[in-house]
Amino acid sequence: MRGERPTSARIIPRAEHGISRSNISEYALKVLYRLSQGGYEAYLVGGGVRDLLLGREPKDFDVATDASPEEVRRLFRNCRIIGRRFRLAHVHFGREIIEVATFRGLAEESEGNDKSVSANGIVLRDNVYGTLEEDAWRRDFTVNALYYNIKDFSVVDYTGGMADLKAGRMRMIGDPAQRFREDPVRMLRAVRFAAKLGFRIDPQSERAIRELGYLLEEVASARLFDESLKLLLTGNGVGTYELLRHYRLFGHLFPDTELALAEEQDNFPHTLLLNALENTDARIARGQPVTPAFLYAALLWEPVRREAELFERRKMPSIQAMQLAGDAVVARQVKRVGLPKRFSLQSREIWEWQERLASGVGGRAFKLLEQKRFRAAYDFLLLRAKSGEPVQELANWWSRFQEADEAQRQTMVRANSGGGARKRRRPPRKRPAKAAT
Ligand code: ATP
Ligand code: MG
Repeated sequence: MRGERPTSARIIPRAEHGISRSNISEYALKVLYRLSQGGYEAYLVGGGVRDLLLGREPKDFDVATDASPEEVRRLFRNCRIIGRRFRLAHVHFGREIIEVATFRGLAEESEGNDKSVSANGIVLRDNVYGTLEEDAWRRDFTVNALYYNIKDFSVVDYTGGMADLKAGRMRMIGDPAQRFREDPVRMLRAVRFAAKLGFRIDPQSERAIRELGYLLEEVASARLFDESLKLLLTGNGVGTYELLRHYRLFGHLFPDTELALAEEQDNFPHTLLLNALENTDARIARGQPVTPAFLYAALLWEPVRREAELFERRKMPSIQAMQLAGDAVVARQVKRVGLPKRFSLQSREIWEWQERLASGVGGRAFKLLEQKRFRAAYDFLLLRAKSGEPVQELANWWSRFQEADEAQRQTMVRANSGGGARKRRRPPRKRPAKAAT
């Protein structure tokens, strides 16, 4: 508990840890040195320190200082102050941004603070400046609260983060239930780091997560969207998805999908989600671009497919059924996780195109192939086929059509025009009899 915290830090001297300046971005070093020369304290903190200590390449470098944002701005011309909830200084170097945060205090303990807490304990604002020590105790996990001091290259550890780092443990600072209530996104962060680092979540935090998952439903949908990308679209999607389900958090983010998963047959749609995430992870590992639209198309596919089926049973044309189903599922989903319209429009196109690809194996195939949505829709069709949906033949046809020369294409299209083509207009929409492994 916070009240029982020790009052002194463990200082790990340069000779006893593995952080070398050669692994720190030159811009982060520049910021640290200039702050220090300006008479301020300056530390590298957060994921940067954690990842360096683990011998991993940090995603970004965060700096903590006793200089106020205005004082930081005075030192750097290329600096912008951002944020309403937390005021931060962003120092820009071309495309790289070094985030500089002023030490924050524990607002409960300071006078005249402007921290406000909602009825259910969620912190709305905490902009109270504090000391290095206070800054350490208000962070989320002990392994995220280690500071690299530019003055003597030591690591400062108030919360026992070094020991947890060595033990591979995500341990919440303070009382986990209280800290998750303050900010439910910390539950997602626990899972994200556990999956990324291969760490275990400590039992007390685990228990709190199992109990408090529902609090995610109170978090702003835009923030959950940002977090969903960090969870599923940064290279550890498969492991993160599995942990999210294990801790029963997934359903609070994707309730329709969770429902479909609960009724899974022969491992579908579980297989489709795993294949989609595996695919995404592999693309990221190869440095290829990934898009939220494709991921969300996969996440919501089963709910959309089911809803479209209901419309079709009422004799609605299939493209229209898919459009209406897409509208309905997206409308429900964005209340929870605020997928921006520019992405949801693309997801919907991918779904509608599944119908186009099914009915377009005649003369229209040439036109479809030229359109800019073809690639994503075709990739999605492959994903469905691989996951056990009965569309393998259709997917093969489109694969062959793309590889064929003009004459072969004409032959393929002719074979589907006239009497025979109608029959294969749509593949059966039944659940697959046997899922692919
Ligand atoms: P990565 O950047 O690799 O995703 P990170 O740990 O650096 O991981 P950031 O979101 O960049 O994560 O946050 C930087 C630091 O700020 C964290 O390490 C943590 O100390 C603190 N922090 C971030 N979010 C919270 C939160 N919700 N509650 C408490 N502390 C937080
Ligand atoms: Mg970071």
